[in-house]
Amino acid sequence: MALVYNETRTEAENPLKWRTGAACKDTDPDLFFPIGSTGAAVEQIDDAKAVCGTCHAQVDCLDFALDTNQDSGVWGGLSEEERRDIRRARRRLAAN
Ligand code: SF4
Repeated sequence: MALVYNETRTEAENPLKWRTGAACKDTDPDLFFPIGSTGAAVEQIDDAKAVCGTCHAQVDCLDFALDTNQDSGVWGGLSEEERRDIRRARRRLAAN
């Protein structure tokens, strides 16, 4: 993702330190933000997910996206629709 972070700071100083060495670090950020979820965007989402699949930070990235309600793009290997499903399921669980 196109987040600004500083690799030299500690985790406490920089909660985005998990991004250090992330697989998408040198990838065009546009890959992770397809327009829509059909047609050509499906292939783009799959390509972004393939990058995530090689990333050591996948779990932390997904946690960050869910914790901060990132509703656009591919984060932690999941599309925005997949993350919405998780948030919906968490709300249902919390309500019970
Ligand atoms: S999981 Fe995907 S979006 Fe998240 S840091 Fe890794 S490559 Fe980037």
